[in-house]
Amino acid sequence: MTLSHHPSESLLAAYAAGVLGEGASLIVAAHLTLCPHCRGAVDQMEALGGALLEEMAPLALAEGALDAVLARLDTPPPPSP
Ligand SMILES: [Zn+2]
Repeated sequence: MTLSHHPSESLLAAYAAGVLGEGASLIVAAHLTLCPHCRGAVDQMEALGGALLEEMAPLALAEGALDAVLARLDTPPPPSP
């Protein structure tokens, strides 16, 4: 199968950053399965994002952050629509 249309770089970047909605992510993921060109671009974007995160100085958590996260683990999930 030859693909003639590709997602824009901004859409691929949003996918790599994990900020796309479920529907758009599904469409991009399906495209990446068939398109090594875009898959390579997303791989580079993810590597760049990872490198940037590794170079960031760590920040201290807010007081009580761990307790707040642990308390959320015991909260039942919202009901499915
Ligand atoms: Zn593509």
